[in-house]
Amino acid sequence: MNSERLSNRLKAVASFVEEGAVVADIGSDHAYLPCFLIHTKKVEKAVAGEVAKGPYESALKNVRREGFSKEITVRMADGLFAIEKNDAVDTVTIAGMGGPLIATILESGKDRLSQVKRIITQPNIYSRAIREWAVSNEWEIVNEQILKEDGKIYEIIVMEKGLAAYGELELMAGPFLLASKTEVFIEKWESELLEWNRVLDALKKTNETDAIKTKKAQLVRHIDLVGKVLTT
Ligand code: SAM
Repeated sequence: MNSERLSNRLKAVASFVEEGAVVADIGSDHAYLPCFLIHTKKVEKAVAGEVAKGPYESALKNVRREGFSKEITVRMADGLFAIEKNDAVDTVTIAGMGGPLIATILESGKDRLSQVKRIITQPNIYSRAIREWAVSNEWEIVNEQILKEDGKIYEIIVMEKGLAAYGELELMAGPFLLASKTEVFIEKWESELLEWNRVLDALKKTNETDAIKTKKAQLVRHIDLVGKVLTT
């Protein structure tokens, strides 16, 4: 396996997998992440779960081509239903989807998480949905990363079992990301601020219905919150 084929985004996800973990990669199109983890000997056993036929077949083909059929079980299943008790999966990765879809996958299959110690998610948008899911389901954020690749900004949220409470800003921007405020973090929120201000200006020019009034108030609140983070 050519590890250079793996995006920096998925390498960053892989970096949060602990040595010797048993991983289920959900939404595993091509099974690149489990193949990388086996190839680098970070893990010895993994499950690649895919709901769609085409990506499932690509995952199966790739795993066979790499000669990892013994180490990686490829299953066609919806979300966490790819995990079976005997797999002894202790780590779940879900990458490359929107935050709300990842939160839905976690919610609808949460019975399958009883043996899982760590969940590593990489939402493409609206990561807040995952942080809200974590709080409601007694998972605590233990690490986060933000990175830019090919002009796109990605966040990674790592969770373990535990009680946590986060404020509005932490839910939106991430407690660990807020604490480190990297260049990419600043770039992301400067760009969000520009967009929110643009939408707010447009809304100010339209007739004010109740829905528009609520949206404007929410935008003003978010602009104020994030503005403070960027200026302090
Ligand atoms: N995880 C890979 C990555 O990060 O590069 C692939 C990301 S791809 C954009 C999203 C994949 O998730 C697709 O192959 C899609 O079929 C799969 N997917 C979406 N919903 C799913 C679900 N409920 N269960 C399993 N797979 C799902």
